[in-house]
Amino acid sequence: MKIIAIGRNYIDHAKELNNPVPTEPVVFLMPDTCILSNNKPFFYPDFSSDIHFEVELVLKINRVGKNIKAEFAHRYFDEVTVGIDFTARDLQAKAKAKGLPWEKAKAFDGSAPIGQFISLSELNDSESIAFSLDINGQRRQTGNSGDMIFSFNEIIAYVSRFFSLKMGDLIFTGTPAGVGPVTIGDKLEASIEGQVLLDFQIK
Ligand code: ZN
Repeated sequence: MKIIAIGRNYIDHAKELNNPVPTEPVVFLMPDTCILSNNKPFFYPDFSSDIHFEVELVLKINRVGKNIKAEFAHRYFDEVTVGIDFTARDLQAKAKAKGLPWEKAKAFDGSAPIGQFISLSELNDSESIAFSLDINGQRRQTGNSGDMIFSFNEIIAYVSRFFSLKMGDLIFTGTPAGVGPVTIGDKLEASIEGQVLLDFQIK
């Protein structure tokens, strides 16, 4: 199982980090050792002093596919949740400055907590999914899949040109604006349409 993640998929987030708005999806991979499930705590790693939260919608792939056309891409997923793409912003800044790969900043153990999956059919409009992140009871990020630069279907069409998709693969679809640092003791709650699907602590 692999995790495919999309960077800079919301214009307001690309701008807050002074990144250009992409003309094709920014793609990176994470290994399965990133996954943190069942609301397990996130342990602040010793190699960073600037871990940032990024709340994202996460799709679960439900069949095998390669070179999937966008018009058929909806057949390849039927469940969604929220996840956090934890980023060691200090390591990422160093890597970006040197033009080096940023896996150490993005794909370390436990860097991808995911919530409980819900069926897309439970949602009113699967093309306009509202999601949010609260930290210690305060709203920190809100997003809507309707604001993505590249839609779920466009992402699947694009990434499946390079990487065969397999059942159980996850796609992190990018974060809206509002990212920021976490500190030990913080409690994170992420929701879709007001339903809390992920709830855990920083230790
Ligand atoms: Zn991200």
